[in-house]
Amino acid sequence: MREFGTTVFAEMTALAARTGSINLGQGFPDTDGPPAMLARAAEALRGGWNQYPPGPGVPELRQAVSWHRMDRYGLAYDPDGEILVTVGATEAISAAVLALCEPGDEVILFEPYYDSYSASVALAGAVRKPVPLRIAEGRFTFDPDELRAAAGPRTRAILVNSPHNPTGTVFTREELAVIADLCRERDIIAITDEVYEHLTFDDVTHIPLATFEGMRERTVMISSAGKTFSVTGWKTGFVCAPRPLITAVQTVKQFLTFTASAPWQLAVAYALREELGWVEGLRAELEGKRDRLMEGLAKAGFEVFRPAGTYFVQTDIRPLGFDDGLTLTRRLPELAGVVAIPTQVFYDHPAIGRHLVRFAFCKRDEVISEAVSRLLSGLR
Ligand SMILES: *Cc1c(COP(=O)(O)O)cnc(C)c1O
Repeated sequence: MREFGTTVFAEMTALAARTGSINLGQGFPDTDGPPAMLARAAEALRGGWNQYPPGPGVPELRQAVSWHRMDRYGLAYDPDGEILVTVGATEAISAAVLALCEPGDEVILFEPYYDSYSASVALAGAVRKPVPLRIAEGRFTFDPDELRAAAGPRTRAILVNSPHNPTGTVFTREELAVIADLCRERDIIAITDEVYEHLTFDDVTHIPLATFEGMRERTVMISSAGKTFSVTGWKTGFVCAPRPLITAVQTVKQFLTFTASAPWQLAVAYALREELGWVEGLRAELEGKRDRLMEGLAKAGFEVFRPAGTYFVQTDIRPLGFDDGLTLTRRLPELAGVVAIPTQVFYDHPAIGRHLVRFAFCKRDEVISEAVSRLLSGLR
């Protein structure tokens, strides 16, 4: 695990603290989730929900997840045996990769990728096969031929994150159909990271890969409360999959953490049923924040790529006269008092993303406006 020593997030967050910069690096909201959900968690704490809950998760949450999957996507998962509650999506991803991949197996992932993917694959002794997302007509997408070429006899799984962090791409029906075809043809398991399932913009909707023909039976569908309800500190995730796959994931999960914290599970169960209106409000607000930040970054001289979902916007820094995002993000606090993330750290082939920098917009409007005005004066 030596190559995973320190993350750029730690470096950039420390840099923000040391320089008093606005941190548009790490993607966590600076406002709270729905008040009634927070009250539910407090009630649970005071009401004696403080011992180990059942390994698969509290029944109330498994039932709420089952209801939500059917109501929103028409997907049927049995709360008893096809749903597992985890310590965030992060644990779900690690447990799924550890459970389903043998040493030497290959896992396809799209780069740039969420940083825990490469570590999970390494923990399993598996081998990552990155397929680059490239910019075409202003959005990040993959070349179907490059995807097919990445699959070989040892390919066991593909990690599919849509809406995609860090590019903001939401895969279209056509793109997902290419992935689904490959999975069926080559008998590949899909592990889907759908933590931004509710956070899409401009009438773009999220389509779960499991809804495609023949995919429910080979998909481990993962999501989490953190992004949906602005409680990234709660680390409450959930996995939906057919029984044999859930059994395998749970076998690993029980020795990672055994079970997830009880109070949050009850509060999230409530929120999945009762607070989706609040989530729609969050989604609309985020769309406005995205527009505010995109406009400011464009004015400051960045080339900006419009994200269709998530918390993040990608920029090309070359119009500003820089070509290395790592150099620019290390200097940005001193130049402008703002911290961002160099996208190249999310690649096996950093050269592809060398000129890209990621900014988070899940922040209060006044914070975004202040960051924009600092960038406007600092980069002039
Ligand atoms: C935030 C995030 C996660 C982690 O979710 P947790 O529930 O906090 O573990 C996983 N995947 C992506 C793409 C994320 O952005």
